[in-house]
Amino acid sequence: MTDNTQARADRWRKRLSAVAMAVLIAAGVAVAQPAAAATTYCVKGTGYYWQSIAEDDFDSSWNTAGSSDWTLKSANGQVLKKGTTSADGRFSACSPAAGASGVTLTLSSTASANGRVQWRTVSRTSLTPYQITVPVSGARTTAADGTVTIAQPNVQIDGNLAGAWHIIDTLRLLWDKRGSTGACWNGSACEALTFRWGTQTSGGGVWVPELHDVVLDYGDATSKHTILHEAGHWWQWTLAGQHLEGNGKYKGWAKWMDIGDCDPHDYDLTTNTTCAWTEGWANAVAAHALGDRRYVYADGRPDAVFDTTYSTADRSEGNITAALLGIFDVDGGFDRSAKAMGTLRTTFGQYYGARGTLKYNNAATDAAVKKFGMDPILILSSAPVS
Ligand SMILES: [Zn+2]
Repeated sequence: MTDNTQARADRWRKRLSAVAMAVLIAAGVAVAQPAAAATTYCVKGTGYYWQSIAEDDFDSSWNTAGSSDWTLKSANGQVLKKGTTSADGRFSACSPAAGASGVTLTLSSTASANGRVQWRTVSRTSLTPYQITVPVSGARTTAADGTVTIAQPNVQIDGNLAGAWHIIDTLRLLWDKRGSTGACWNGSACEALTFRWGTQTSGGGVWVPELHDVVLDYGDATSKHTILHEAGHWWQWTLAGQHLEGNGKYKGWAKWMDIGDCDPHDYDLTTNTTCAWTEGWANAVAAHALGDRRYVYADGRPDAVFDTTYSTADRSEGNITAALLGIFDVDGGFDRSAKAMGTLRTTFGQYYGARGTLKYNNAATDAAVKKFGMDPILILSSAPVS
C-alpha cells in the first residue's frame, strides 16, 4: 500500500464515521460513553424504641427495633430499596441513588420474611401499619472499593408508638421458635399475624377469630407474655388450618371451637376442658417462646409460675400449661406439637391423642402430663366443654 492509498483509506474512514454519526444522531440514539462505575451508597443505622416492660419491673429503657421493615425512598418518592432490620434493629440500605439529596428512610411496624409480611401491628382505626420516616443524613466515609457509607443517626420511634414496635420485636421470639412443621409460617399460604393496637385503653387483649386478628389494649403492649399469649391463640387457629376454611382462602366465617363459659379464666381457676385447653396452650406458647415459665401481666403481676398442680385435672389451664411446657422440653419444642395440631383439637386430650398417633416420645410426655395431676389415658376421652 502506497502512502497515497493509505491517505485515501483514512479519508474514507473519516467520511464513513461521519456518516454513521449523522445517522445515529438523526435516529436519536445516544452515543455510548465509557461508563464510570456508579458509586454505591449504604445508609447504615439502628432503629430504637423507648419502652417500659412488665417483665423487667417496668424499667423503661431503649430497645432496638428488630424485624421492622424499612424502605429507602428518593426525594420524589421512588422506592430505592426495601429490607427488614436484623434482630438487633440494624439496617443497611444500599443504592447508587442513596447519596442524592432528599432521600428518606422509613421504618414500618411490619415484619417480612420470605418475601411476605409475616406479622404486623396496625392502627385500630385505620387498620394500617405505623410508620416513622427520617431524612437520610450523617457522616460519609468511603471504603477502598469506593462504596460510601452514610452513618444514619439513630432512628427513634415516637414514644406513643413504641408499643407497636415492641409487639413486632416480641413476636419475633415466636417466629424464631416456630419449628419446621405446620401449615403456617413455613412457606405455605398464611395470613399475616395482625395485632390491632393504638391509644385505646378499652378491650384488654383478645384474639378475635371473626376478625382473624388480635386486638390489644394500649397498656397491654408492655407485657411480652400477653403479646405472645394472644399470638398463641392465633397460632393454634392457623396450625389447625382454620384460616383456609370458608369459601376460598381467607374468606368466610372463621371457625373456632366452642369455648363455653371461659370468662373469667385464669391459670388457677377450674373452667371447662375446651377453655382450659386453649388458654393453657396460649400460656405455654408465651412461656416457651420467652424461656420464662411465669405469666407476667401488663400490670407487672408475675403471680403465675407454671410448676404447680391445680384442681381440676384438664379443666385447669395452669395444669395444661405446665404439662405442655414439660412436653416441649422433652419432645421437640413446638415442632411436633405443630404437626399434631393439623386440624382443630378442642381439648388437651384430643391434642395428646394426636401426638400419640404420630408416635412421639410417649413415655417422657406421659410423665410430663402425670406430673401435673392428669391421667394420660383419662384425658384422651375427656369430652369437649364439660
Ligand atoms: Zn387467652
